[in-house]
Amino acid sequence: MPNLSPSKIVCVGRNYAAHAKELGNDVPREPLIFLKPPSSIIRDGESIMLPTVSKHVEYEGEIGVVIGKRLRKASADEARGAVAGIVAANDVTARDLQKSDKQWTRAKGFDTFCALGSVGAVPTDLSSLTVTSRVNGSVRQEGRASDMVFDIPAILSFISGIMTLEPGDLVLTGTPEGVGILAPGDVVEVEIAGVSRVSNPVTSDE
Ligand code: ZN
Repeated sequence: MPNLSPSKIVCVGRNYAAHAKELGNDVPREPLIFLKPPSSIIRDGESIMLPTVSKHVEYEGEIGVVIGKRLRKASADEARGAVAGIVAANDVTARDLQKSDKQWTRAKGFDTFCALGSVGAVPTDLSSLTVTSRVNGSVRQEGRASDMVFDIPAILSFISGIMTLEPGDLVLTGTPEGVGILAPGDVVEVEIAGVSRVSNPVTSDE
């Protein structure tokens, strides 16, 4: 398995219209980005720890993009050519803290809040990618990259106009509708069909 040690993890919020709506938000006119710390990464089989300070932690199944070439102020075409791998990702979120804090660093940044599968191959057509989330084996989210508000090359181009993306950096491209709460004892799985999957048990951090 390739080592995944990004210098940063850049994430996109509200990138599927149906998910923005389910949380009562409008679709942003530009990509809405935030960061997760690399210290939040766990891999397949490791436990997601529910922090005691939150009463409502949710899964967010996402298509993760691994950057292969440095991108700075890149066009969408240049960005497309820099995609080196695709990874199933769970952008675990303390939803109550996301709402009560003015910004999302705490809600998105706890240790174990970024579950990543193995890095899979990049398809010829990025919009053909799908993401499915299951909790205890039942399907909760089914998203298609073709339903994104901003597609993957557009997202990478946008981010590269703000911060240089380095080889190995990771971009999480937003979650489709169907997010929901996690409880101790659950097993949550995110799968990008034919490409990557990650499955993690959930435990309380006590
Ligand atoms: Zn997310």
